[in-house]
Amino acid sequence: MQNTDLTVDNEARARGRIQRANSLAGHVYEAIFAQLMSLRIVPGSRITVDNLVKEFNVSHTPIREALGRLEGEGLVLKTHLIGYRAAPQITRRRFDELYELRLMLEPAAAAKATATMDGERLAALQAAAGVMARRVGKDERLRYSNFARQDAIFHDKIVEFAQNELIRETLNHQHTHFHIFRLMYHSRVTEEALDEHEAILAAFAAGDPDAAEKAMRAHIENSRDRLLPAFE
Ligand SMILES: [Zn+2]
Repeated sequence: MQNTDLTVDNEARARGRIQRANSLAGHVYEAIFAQLMSLRIVPGSRITVDNLVKEFNVSHTPIREALGRLEGEGLVLKTHLIGYRAAPQITRRRFDELYELRLMLEPAAAAKATATMDGERLAALQAAAGVMARRVGKDERLRYSNFARQDAIFHDKIVEFAQNELIRETLNHQHTHFHIFRLMYHSRVTEEALDEHEAILAAFAAGDPDAAEKAMRAHIENSRDRLLPAFE
């Protein structure tokens, strides 16, 4: 009996260790992500593992794990023998191309998604929009990076509901939201987008595909215009 108890105890302890390690890695990842999104880590700059180890007072493992995950998200580049650096800012040309692509795909996807919208899907979109609106915590950088992530989820879900996986993959592959939110760290980027998301949600709720298409087009055009000054 005692042996079994001990085994259970050891397993629980091991589980606890794994959970702590997981939550530590997740915490470190979120913190570096927030620094990248809010430009505290400057686009194109070198990222030194040893500096992050000191800053977060953790071992190399969670730092390397976080950087590997960020590399997969296109935010960090790794060069053999040189190390890590933050992905450079997208160029003006790339920006124009990205918005041209979005304007071709996303308004049409919004119209199409209207037909498949049900209570559950609408609730999922409203949840993403709700997280963006929440002003919790004092850390503005964390709030900004959360907003960027939720915005990516919000737009991805709409394309998912439009049921064209190729369009979804194409847009996901660009890591659009992570790049555009790094162009400018400013509250205007987030505040105005919230109202535009509301207009998209209202069109979905009304089951009006034309209004959804229009609202999405307006949102993407406004987003483009808000970020253009970053290139001046
Ligand atoms: Zn948006």
